[in-house]
Amino acid sequence: MKKLAEVLKDWEAVIGLEVHTELTTLDTKMFCNCKLSHDDPPNTNVCPVCLGMPGALPVPNRKAIQYIVMAGLATNCQIQRRSMFYRKHYFYPDMAKNFQTTQGPVAICMHGHLDLAVSGEGASERPAWETLAGDGETPIEREKDGSYVAPIRILRIHMEEDAAKMVHVGGEEGRITAATESLIDYNRCGTPLIELVTEPDLRTPEEARLFMEKLQQTFKTLGISDCSLESGSMRCDGNVSLRRRGETKLGTKTEMKNINSFKSLHDALEYEICRQAEVLEEGGIVYQETRHWEPSRHRTVVMRVKETADDYRLFPDPDLAPFDLTDDFIEEARAKIPELPDAKRDRYVADFGLKRADAAQLAGDPSTAETFEKSVALAPDKAAKTVAKVMVNLVPAYKALAPAQIASISALLDEDAITFSQAKDVLEAVDGTDRDPAAVVDERGMRQVSDTGALEPIVDEVLARCTDQVQQYHDGNKKVVGYLVGQCMKASKGTGNPKLFNKLLRQKLEA
Ligand code: ADP
Ligand code: MG
Ligand code: ZN
Repeated sequence: MKKLAEVLKDWEAVIGLEVHTELTTLDTKMFCNCKLSHDDPPNTNVCPVCLGMPGALPVPNRKAIQYIVMAGLATNCQIQRRSMFYRKHYFYPDMAKNFQTTQGPVAICMHGHLDLAVSGEGASERPAWETLAGDGETPIEREKDGSYVAPIRILRIHMEEDAAKMVHVGGEEGRITAATESLIDYNRCGTPLIELVTEPDLRTPEEARLFMEKLQQTFKTLGISDCSLESGSMRCDGNVSLRRRGETKLGTKTEMKNINSFKSLHDALEYEICRQAEVLEEGGIVYQETRHWEPSRHRTVVMRVKETADDYRLFPDPDLAPFDLTDDFIEEARAKIPELPDAKRDRYVADFGLKRADAAQLAGDPSTAETFEKSVALAPDKAAKTVAKVMVNLVPAYKALAPAQIASISALLDEDAITFSQAKDVLEAVDGTDRDPAAVVDERGMRQVSDTGALEPIVDEVLARCTDQVQQYHDGNKKVVGYLVGQCMKASKGTGNPKLFNKLLRQKLEA
């Protein structure tokens, strides 16, 4: 198969995502009072409603509706005051009532968008000559470094319920094929689930990956889900088709399932784009089918040919009255939305002078942002930039650090008491303990002398001794200062502050 970059020269990849998110932070299920929990013994959180007993009546979870409205507002959707629940019929043991309660043509949230900032290596997956966003109208403006912002339209976010969890035993990679037994746990059945569907506006596997990442950050910040791809509380299907560059008609798409990491999403789309290109270039046709991503073999395989909407016999659920959301209800949801990652990033740039990419990294994850802000509050004034530097470069390796420890190490760095590589050693030593980094620095005698009075005699001694180098300096070889700093460090047995030595040397040489 050809490489992605090669394929994308001739073909345009068109990608749309369907993302399911369980509202894991709620206490109860969507239509009954059963507890929402992932750790209880199988089939203990069940009742006549979520087991689909005849005559049981569903009652919608008010807080789940509030959460989906928050999700819609945070993704710039129009909130539909009137919408309703439908029954989507299918026969499979993971839904005891033989239909899933979901929404029809009108979802609670319609027509939103997220702006995607694409930078670094990933930005080059989209060929530079492509100047329009996926909507075919918005110009894509490139920065000098190739980065760009692409608006990605969201078609809808609707409310539905999750199915039971099935475990197939004895088969290959947990699939039903060749399994000897299938186990079923109805605890998950009826879990509030929101499904977001994008317009086919994504153009590269990297854009798809970044979209998912941004969505995860947004929903996490809203506090509506733990958004774990690994555990399946956030699940993503990737739809992709190819068309010749310049063509406007959409090609036939395939849909990728079993994507449980950001890398899988990227790699599955990359593989599928290359596979489709090969099929099309050999004169074959791409079938509309659902394919399964096999991460261990790095390929997709056919799962089933696509069922059509007619097969589901979708009709309004007679047990559930249509919604009439009031303005008060929507405003109450809006008031609950915390500062979102983009706004937070911009604030960090404006208030602390951070680099945009660093600010975005810190603002993206709510718990990282919280640690950062707590650390800044505890650190000396003006040390915010150092705190950011520590958090971006050092903290990911030392997860168990407390804000007070981050503030302390930042203060030490800020006053040049230690170097960055010393900071690394110190953090390793205090990680997971409640020890103060400053105490470790003192204990190990690491603190650099940053007192001019103590360093000056050393500088004078070195300048008096190294007459050749001093002459070279005056002859224009300014780089020789590096050698002189080295001599000062040696004379101070490594305890002097190299930056201060440098400054003092230059002062005296220029005097
Ligand atoms: P289905 O009925 O097969 O689920 P939908 O029309 O609901 O298809 O679209 C599902 C997802 O696939 C959406 O994200 C949509 O943007 C995307 N999509 C639709 N058509 C195409 C296509 N030709 N190529 C790529 N993605 C597509
Ligand atoms: Mg679909
Ligand atoms: Zn129940």
